Order: sequence, then structure tokens, then C-alpha cells
Amino acid sequence: MLRNDQLDEWDRENFFHPSTHLAEFARGNVPNRVIKTGSGCHITDRDGVKLLDAFAGLYCVNVGYGRPEISDAIAEQAKELAYYHAYVGHGTEASITLAKMVLDRAPGNMSKVYFGLSGSDANETNVKLVWYYNNILGRPEKKKIISRWRGYHGSGLMTGSLTGLELFHKAFDLPLAQVIHTEAPYYYRRADVSMSEEAFVQHCVDELEALIEREGADTIGAFIGEPALGTGGLVPPPAGYWPAIQAVLKKHDILLIADEVVTGFGRLGSMFGSFHYGIEPDLITIAKGLTSAYAPLSGTIVSDKMWKVLEEGTDKLGPIGHGWTYSAHPIGAAAGVANLELIDKLNLVENAGTVGAYFKNALNEAVGAHANVGEVRGEGLLCAVEFVQDRDKRAFFDASEKVGARVASALLEEGVIARAMPQGDIIGFAPPFCMTQAEADEVAGKLGKAVKSVL
Ligand code: PLP
Repeated sequence: MLRNDQLDEWDRENFFHPSTHLAEFARGNVPNRVIKTGSGCHITDRDGVKLLDAFAGLYCVNVGYGRPEISDAIAEQAKELAYYHAYVGHGTEASITLAKMVLDRAPGNMSKVYFGLSGSDANETNVKLVWYYNNILGRPEKKKIISRWRGYHGSGLMTGSLTGLELFHKAFDLPLAQVIHTEAPYYYRRADVSMSEEAFVQHCVDELEALIEREGADTIGAFIGEPALGTGGLVPPPAGYWPAIQAVLKKHDILLIADEVVTGFGRLGSMFGSFHYGIEPDLITIAKGLTSAYAPLSGTIVSDKMWKVLEEGTDKLGPIGHGWTYSAHPIGAAAGVANLELIDKLNLVENAGTVGAYFKNALNEAVGAHANVGEVRGEGLLCAVEFVQDRDKRAFFDASEKVGARVASALLEEGVIARAMPQGDIIGFAPPFCMTQAEADEVAGKLGKAVKSVL
């Protein structure tokens, strides 16, 4: 085993960490944290420090850490057949079984699932399928994709463009020209203090209509959105948002991509966010919860309507020119099968709903009355606390005060991991679905202490 100082030196000398302040890391001002083990909602670092992970890694370890059902399935698959590709009709029992399990759980109008590796590559696939679809239909101009400010869809060239957060565009020359952004369904931040939720939904609809009018409906291929905003602030949509948006998209023949990378497989207390909010997508993006991150695997679920056109397309064009070496990787697929079985066996979707409601209540009791807490919000096990300088005026802190990050650090001192979201003073919670009420109370109580120590 390596000595800690050796590991630290190698880490700072060799490892390019994602989403990290590179210079501060090199200077030693960003602590390097080496995680060794995990069990249930807890992880333990190399020094034996045990932390309650109330963000499930990057809201992905949905069944919790240390599940032998999944690691055994991975080991068995690796022993039997570590790899074979899925090109030209090839597959494995695991990948075929997982495709059937995903479709059995998805909305009824869905037809097929393509497997990738990450949420980002699944969204790249989505955009390519929208373009392919419109080319086959003889509408080569209908290509732009509408995304929302504060949406998060990945950090590739196209998906980083779809993402509506400045951090992911800055100095990368993004967004690409094919991507246009519209209003975020973020009532608390974007509506005037006096505006009703209903009026704000109408404002979102008007903004979307105006954008479509400006650009021309025949230049717009699809709209992409997370059922509930994730990285942009963990924000459930205002009531009536999705049906109203969907009506506009249908009117203009614009496809709808539901990015369910976070919400898919139970986080909101429903199997998919699309069920939760009455969304009827043409494409669904899945990743994280598909394997609970025990192995990298993502997917694009394609509707009947699009599938028919894609099939016809290959009659005209030949085999579809899209695929990765690791599409439907057998080890990821085996992890996915075991993960979905475990979710069913332990009723974890239901638990996400019931413990989620309990947790939101506990957060409200712990910090809801604090003068600098503007909103405690959530749906299922996707919850957030947003801090403000002045509650009545809904005045936000200056970003330089880093209030969210300071609260997250104070909470970490208490032994709980939450996420300071990248834009705004928002602490996010997205724990594993096996979180108990006692753990929910512990997180809420420790947040109360952390908030008092900072504000
Ligand atoms: N879509 C959503 C909604 C996400 O939250 C994320 C990642 O957090 C992605 C896409 C990108 O997934 P990945 O990081 O696996 O590329």
C-alpha cells in the first residue's frame, strides 16, 4: 500500500481532476480526499474518517454503497465475458435483458434503448438522432436545439452547449451556434416577488413562444429539459409548467428530450420524472441511476414515433453510422440488471418518495425559519436549501461571499457531505434512496448547526 505522502505527491503531480480549480489544487489549497470504502449512505476515507454522503456521490449511487448483489454480478460477468461489442446485431444476455427491463419501466410510447457510457454521450446521441430524424423526413433546416438557462446536460461540445450554466461555457467557446437557451422554470429566483406561480408559467411559455417566433419553428428540432432542474439549483418545476411547455412544442412540431439522468429510476419518488410531471417525451436520457454508478452506463430511450423514422432511414441510407466501442458494455449491463432488480426488491422508489417527504420536512424544521434561508424545496430525494441576504426582498448574497460553499464546508466538518451547487447560494441534497428517517434527522440537525456557525 502506498504511503499517504507518496499518494498526495502523485495526485498533485499527475492527476487532472475534473471540475477543480487547477491552480488552487496545485498550490495545495484544495484538499485532496482519497476515498477508500463505502457502505449504505456512508463513505470512509483513507484516514478512517466516516462521512454521511447526502449527495450519493454525484447523485448517482442511488441504491447506496457496498451492495454485494451488484458487485457480485459485475464480477461474474467479468469472469464469464468481460467484453464483446454490440455492433451489427451483437449483444450479451445482460445487455438484452437490461434493454427489456428499461423499456418495461419507461413510458408506454417508448420503443428502443441505445446504451452509452455517460449522460453526456447519451445527450450527444439524442441530438444526433434529432438531426438524423429530420434529415430523413426531408427537413434539413430543423436542427436547432432549445435548452433552458440553468439546465445541465453534460460537458462535451454539444452537451456543454446545451448546459445553461456560464461556468461550463467560459473560455471553451461554447455554446455552439445550434443551441439556443430559454427561461429557466425557477420560480423562486426568476419570478418577481409579487408574481403568482401561474403567471410565471405563462411567462416561461411566452418566452418560449417568442424564441420560436424569432428563430422560426422550421429551424428548431428539439427542446431538452430535466423534469426537475438538477445542477442548476435542484428546482422542481412550478405546477402546470410541463403540460404548458409541451403544448407549445407539439404546436410547432418540436421534439421533446427529457433528460432523466438524475430523475430516472426513482429519485423523485416515481420511476421516471416524466411520470411525475405528465411529460410525454420523444427521447429520454438515462445514466446515473441505471447502474447506481457501480459501472459507467447510460442510455437513450427512443419513442415509437422516432423509431419508425430511424428504421426507414436505414432503408435509404444503410446502417446507422453511430456507435461506441463500449456501447452496451456487458459489465455495465450486468450492473444495471442487478441494480434495477435491487431497486424493485427493496422498494427503493417508494422509499425515495416517503423518506424524501420526511427529509424535506426535517430540513424545514431545522433551518426553514432562519432569516437567511429563502427557500427549502424538493421532490422525493432531490432537495435544496437556498440562502438569501434578505428574505422579504428576496435579495441574494454577492457571489464573492460564497455563502453556499461556506455552509457546505461547515456541514462537512460535522461529517455530512452536501453539494454547494455551482450557481447561487444553494446547498443540494440527493442522498441514496436507502436513507433512513434517523439519517434524515441527522443531516437536518447538522445542517442547522452548520448554518448557525456561518450565518
Ligand atoms: N444530464 C444531467 C441531467 C446530469 O445531471 C448530468 C450529470 O450530472 C449529465 C446529463 C451528464 O452526465 P455525465 O456526467 O455522466 O456525462
